Amino acid sequence: MVTIEDVIQNLKVRLNPEREKRMRAAYAFALKAHVGQKRRSGDEYIQHSLATALNVAKIGMRSKTIAAALLHDVPEDTDVTLAEIEKEFGQEIAFIVDGVTNLGKIKFRESKEDLYVENLRKMFLAMAQDIRVVIIKLADRLHNMETLNFVSPEKRQRIAKETMEIYTPIANRLGIGEIKIKLEDLSFKFLDPEHYAHIKLISETEFEARKKSIQRAIYELKRELAKEKIKILNIHGRTKSLYRLFKKMELHDMDINKVYDLAGVRVIVPTIASCYETLGIVHKKFRPMVGRIKDYISLPKPNGYQSIHTTIFGPDGKILEIQIRTQKMHDEAEFGIASHWIYSEQKQGWINFLTFRKKKEEIREELAWVKQLREWQVDLGTDNKEFIEGLKLEFFKNHILAFTPKGDIIDLPEDATPIDFAYRVHSEVGNRATGAKADHKMVPLDYKIKNGEMIEIITSKEKKSPNRDWLRFVRTSNAKSTIRKHLKKEGLI
Ligand code: MN
Repeated sequence: MVTIEDVIQNLKVRLNPEREKRMRAAYAFALKAHVGQKRRSGDEYIQHSLATALNVAKIGMRSKTIAAALLHDVPEDTDVTLAEIEKEFGQEIAFIVDGVTNLGKIKFRESKEDLYVENLRKMFLAMAQDIRVVIIKLADRLHNMETLNFVSPEKRQRIAKETMEIYTPIANRLGIGEIKIKLEDLSFKFLDPEHYAHIKLISETEFEARKKSIQRAIYELKRELAKEKIKILNIHGRTKSLYRLFKKMELHDMDINKVYDLAGVRVIVPTIASCYETLGIVHKKFRPMVGRIKDYISLPKPNGYQSIHTTIFGPDGKILEIQIRTQKMHDEAEFGIASHWIYSEQKQGWINFLTFRKKKEEIREELAWVKQLREWQVDLGTDNKEFIEGLKLEFFKNHILAFTPKGDIIDLPEDATPIDFAYRVHSEVGNRATGAKADHKMVPLDYKIKNGEMIEIITSKEKKSPNRDWLRFVRTSNAKSTIRKHLKKEGLI
């Protein structure tokens, strides 16, 4: 059972009376809206809202996002409308809740094509319009995965596959290791139960065998670092996640003895300088393995990950991996994009990165996720400068993304019709169009396409020119000019 007190106690950001009031009000509102509803597990529905909010709090999000997390299923699953949420909690929270509701409407169709899956991920991000929406959606999915035992076996497989293919890579791209690893291990459990059980047993056995060595290493490192007056913020034993261990073992013919980072010790120290000093002390105390020192502080991983890793022969000769990092590096590794909220507060009060334009010199120190955002922006194929500079996902506010039957994404303005869609695909498809389907249902040619729909254009071989009255409803200049050109050519206008 999760309570609102648990959510509040797990906040990573400062709490003031106003924020606390907001969160409690959102809780009371959601409680009332969901009253009498139950989850498949038999729990009260509010347990799901609270669990989602708790997941969001744990990675460092603030009171507005937590309020939105508490309210995330209200418009979709109760009689209470978005307008009522807006009236009670304001535009910003209502906007986030609406984003979560809309993302829930994207249908994930199965496809064997990698491109389709990649497009779905992009679309998911693009449609969210606000990173906080994506974070709530990940937190929501995490709780749904934790309670997946209660749904039918078919649905379980579908949800687990969708989580592995869509949600896990998104959590990874946002750098939220904390959620990524949990989603990955839960999906692994449902998708490949045999390997899961096997790996779980290996992991537990191997960790057990190293436990004493890890405890001993922690004890000795604490003593040595104290001697050198290096402050330890945190030191703990760790193991590799089950899915990651499985992937690594696959690379090494399933031979556990070739996996050197199965378990080890993580040391968190105050500064970058003390990270390197700690490395020196580790190597003085324990013999390092040749070629196993990785300095991701000087050379961060492509996703921005920073730490120093070294593999040593620990007490009793057991091989252990030691990871050394600062608190900021640790938070970025665990919470990714969300850690921005923690650090922006410490630095200069609350900044909503979606609306705040950073000074040039601040951009230089930007977290790695900002670079990622830019990369996605390039991936998404837009050259909207404002998007890059303001770090907004707003480009997509007046845009609609629709699928072709093959899974390609067609980007259209709001209120675009199947004719606009057809001309975007190819002028011949436009000219020959006689009908259209949206998500497999017949729709008129002046139908307003909704975000995420799959549009199928029905064409005729005999038909070679566009209809004149299409000009009344098409939205894109491309469709308009192509239609005009053809009509002129045939002397129809
Ligand atoms: Mn939900």
